[in-house]
Amino acid sequence: MTELSSIKGVGPKALMLLNKIGINTVEDLVTHYPFRYDILERCNLLEVEDGGHIIIDGRIESVPILMRFKAGLNKMNFRLVTKSGVVGVSIFNRAFLKNQLQVGTYVTVIGKLDKKKNVITASELKLEPLSNKVKIEAVYHSTNGLTNKNLATYINMALLTCGNEIPDYIPKEYIEKYNFLNKKTALNIIHNPSTKEKLKEVSIRLKYEELFAFMFKINYLKYENKKNDSGISHSIDEKKLNQFIKSIPFSLTNDQKKAVEEILEDLKSNSRMNRLLQGDVGSGKTIVSFIAMYANFLSGYQSALMAPTEILAVQHYHNLKNLLQDTNVSLELLTGSTSKKDKQAIYNGLKDGSIHMIIGTHALIQEEVEYQNLGLVITDEQHRFGVNQRTNLHNKGMKPDILYMSATPIPRTYALTIYGDMDMSIIKERPKGRKKIETYIKKNSEIKEVLEMMFEQLEKNHQVYVIAPLIEDSENNDLATVCNLKDQMTLAFGKKYKIDIIHGKMASAAKDLIMQEFVQGSIQILISTTVIEVGVDVSNATTMVIFDANRFGLSTLHQLRGRVGRGSHQSQCILISDSDTKRLEIMRDVEDGFVISEEDFKLRGHGDLFGTKQSGDMEFKIANLREDYKILLQAKKDSEEYLKKKDADSEIKDLLISSIHHN
Ligand code: ADP
Ligand code: MG
Repeated sequence: MTELSSIKGVGPKALMLLNKIGINTVEDLVTHYPFRYDILERCNLLEVEDGGHIIIDGRIESVPILMRFKAGLNKMNFRLVTKSGVVGVSIFNRAFLKNQLQVGTYVTVIGKLDKKKNVITASELKLEPLSNKVKIEAVYHSTNGLTNKNLATYINMALLTCGNEIPDYIPKEYIEKYNFLNKKTALNIIHNPSTKEKLKEVSIRLKYEELFAFMFKINYLKYENKKNDSGISHSIDEKKLNQFIKSIPFSLTNDQKKAVEEILEDLKSNSRMNRLLQGDVGSGKTIVSFIAMYANFLSGYQSALMAPTEILAVQHYHNLKNLLQDTNVSLELLTGSTSKKDKQAIYNGLKDGSIHMIIGTHALIQEEVEYQNLGLVITDEQHRFGVNQRTNLHNKGMKPDILYMSATPIPRTYALTIYGDMDMSIIKERPKGRKKIETYIKKNSEIKEVLEMMFEQLEKNHQVYVIAPLIEDSENNDLATVCNLKDQMTLAFGKKYKIDIIHGKMASAAKDLIMQEFVQGSIQILISTTVIEVGVDVSNATTMVIFDANRFGLSTLHQLRGRVGRGSHQSQCILISDSDTKRLEIMRDVEDGFVISEEDFKLRGHGDLFGTKQSGDMEFKIANLREDYKILLQAKKDSEEYLKKKDADSEIKDLLISSIHHN
């Protein structure tokens, strides 16, 4: 494949700028799709108002007069004959065009019309008449120093010189079936569309291609799982397991029982478990995973539980440690802040099998951790891990059963597609005795009422979370910050209550300490960024106050709200915002996370839902899961069919499979 640097015009500086916006190969370049199009419609002199934007073509009637001012500034004037009359044109800094602008040359001028002087001050001048009434121009995301024109030039040069090298991920049979244009032509059109209809046609083709490749990956993983991996067939001492379940201080809900049963079935069977446990925040997924770990222990295997944050890993560790008091299970915690010495001891223990269960952050899969006989891997808050991390686990060499847990209630149809490689258990029912969390929307001017509501709860010995979108003040914005709120809260409550902060920039040990104090109740007000969002569980906390709530997606707000209402006390969530009330009212009126996620999906697409920042592979270049759902379904169907065909075009199959492993 031709190197990006050998595209004509792409020098070292341009290369650096292209790299900066994520373009590293010719393929990246030509699939750097426009994020919008400007539609330039030709108008006539009479239609446009004074000072209005105009696009018009015509013939040059007078020899252009060039005036040079100081260095780097020049201006050219000429008269243009158009279909609707003669008009003066003046344009700055186009001295270099002087020789091409002869009397009689046809040009197109884009600019502002001064009706009184009958002059267009042009911002752009093209050396050709408009071929159609409408001209569509691609507009790209770019960076300083790289103009839209530069990008368009490089892209078109690449298409011209090596457009045939760009791989097409759609197998021939589907190209024929749908009568798709070939890849090079499609790319040419997406960057230089002549009509809206053509544009629509090729964008469907390119979206289909992207979704086909994506669904192929998912289906391939599923297929490989079923085909190769004869998993571990666990034999479990049911009596001991039931004793353990009885020792839990509450009884399981029906949905929890059902999920446990489904997981036990998977453990016992000799095909490998690949299951997603979905349940709204607070539905009690953790205990289900602990039971699975204990069952796995009883059958003689090690378990690993991976959490997305250290706070959560520590919390799970303490909870499980408590439950295991009367057993002989050895459980350890491994995170980024475990000391080197302790880490070594843990590695040894995992390798020789003396440690039965391990809880930690991604450290568990990223580092050189060796297990004696890993039988079960659980990842909490699965939406934070992408498809590629899924493969990572699969590639750990062993064939443990895998359980993913997710509190993001993805609409079922989407979940089936995105997590199409997994089986699913769903917990809908909440533990008994939970009360509805009351949600209030307050303006910044109503802060006094908010403080009163907080005070009322604090007086009842309950605890409060306060959330801000930022940690510290940054330039030119007046959003609430953790640091400022700490000062304000200290002023209001500092005499009587202990207040502290927690955020992502703090060292892990410091975060743990604060979290522990909050769990134990020695801190009453905890001010935080959304690091608190994921999974943290303090049942005495009854109030969640979110400043600048309009800054967060509904799914995030729902997760945050789920931090309270975890015990039997009446809880509340207060959203503070001066704007965007319509959207926030959804939070006030709707409790069900599935409904909220549907709404969020409608409003924002999939971005917030899947935590795109954390899992880059959910980002599509041209497709949009929500808008292009029909195409997705078709691509899903086709990719399944294609995967099953023995004689399928193996070149494309190889291409698709290799794209799974290299990213
Ligand atoms: P999530 O599904 O959001 O991870 P957790 O597993 O953290 O929820 O559970 C939330 C809280 O509910 C925890 O304090 C847990 O101990 C408690 N809990 C879980 N199941 C039950 C149950 N069946 N009855 C009562 N409380 C429960
Ligand atoms: Mg959880």
